[in-house]
Amino acid sequence: MSNIIKQVPKVYVLDNGRMKMDKNFMVSMHNPATAADPNKPNQMIEFPIYTVLIDHPDGKVLFDTACNPNGMGEGGRWPQEIQNLLQFTAEVDGQDCHLHSRLEEIGVDPREVDYVVVSHLHLDHSGCLELFTNAKIIVHQNEFNAALQNYAQNRSAEGFIWDDVDAWIKNDLTWRVVKDDEGDLDLLDGIRILNFGSGHSYGMLGLHIDLADHGGLILASDAVYSSENYGPPSRLPATIYDSIGYMKTIDKIQKLSSKTQSEVWFGHDGEQFSTLRKSTEGYYE
Ligand SMILES: [Zn+2]
Repeated sequence: MSNIIKQVPKVYVLDNGRMKMDKNFMVSMHNPATAADPNKPNQMIEFPIYTVLIDHPDGKVLFDTACNPNGMGEGGRWPQEIQNLLQFTAEVDGQDCHLHSRLEEIGVDPREVDYVVVSHLHLDHSGCLELFTNAKIIVHQNEFNAALQNYAQNRSAEGFIWDDVDAWIKNDLTWRVVKDDEGDLDLLDGIRILNFGSGHSYGMLGLHIDLADHGGLILASDAVYSSENYGPPSRLPATIYDSIGYMKTIDKIQKLSSKTQSEVWFGHDGEQFSTLRKSTEGYYE
C-alpha cells in the first residue's frame, strides 16, 4: 500500500480571442472564379487564437503565446497594413481573452512557467513571449534566424513584428534553439517536441502529449490551420514558406496520429475549437 498519489499532467485550453482575414490565406484558392461565375467575391473568415498550458508534475509548459495586447489600434505594434489584413480582438462575448488574463484565471503567474514551446514566431503565436522571463523559450532555429533578420533590417514583415522582437531582446529571454537535424525531442515525461522543419513558416514546432485518461494529443498549430487543410486531400494555405515541407509535415502528423491514436488539434479551426473544453470549464488529463 502506498499513500503516494501519482500526479498527472493537466492540459488547459486558453481561448485568446478571434482574428479575421481573407479565407484564401487559410485555404488557398478555395473558391476559384469559373467561366460561369467569373467575379466570385473574396471572403473574410473569423477564427480562434488559442494557447495550451500543461501543468505537469515536473514543470509548467506553455504552447504558444497568442497576440500582444498592444498589437491593434492607433500607435499599436502592428503596422497599419497588417492591422487591415488581420483584425484581432481579445474580447469575445464580454470575456477578456488576453493570455495574461487567462493564466491568472487558472492561478498561473507567467514567471512560474518553465518552458514555452513556440510553434513559430508569427504575431498570433509569439505576441506575449516577453512575459516569460523565467522560462526556457524553445523555438526552431530557422524561425529564430528569420525573425531576427527582419528585426536587424527594421522590418515588420512575413508575420514577424519588430516591436515584439524588440521586447524579447529587452526582456533578456532565455532561448533553446532547436536545429533542423535534431529531430523530435523529449521535453518531460509524456511530452515530446515535434520538429516539423519548414512549411507554413521557416521552422515549425509542434507538441505530442500523452494523457493518462484522454489519450494522445498532437498540437499542430499552423502546420495545419484547419480540418480543410488536413484533408484528405491536404490543402495548402496562401501563407506558405515551403509548400513541399508543408505537405511532408501533414503526412508526418497523419502517420503519427494513426500510430499513436492521437487527436490532432489544428491551429485555427473554429469548428474544432468550439468542441474543445476551455480553461473556463475545466481541463484534460
Ligand atoms: Zn497562426
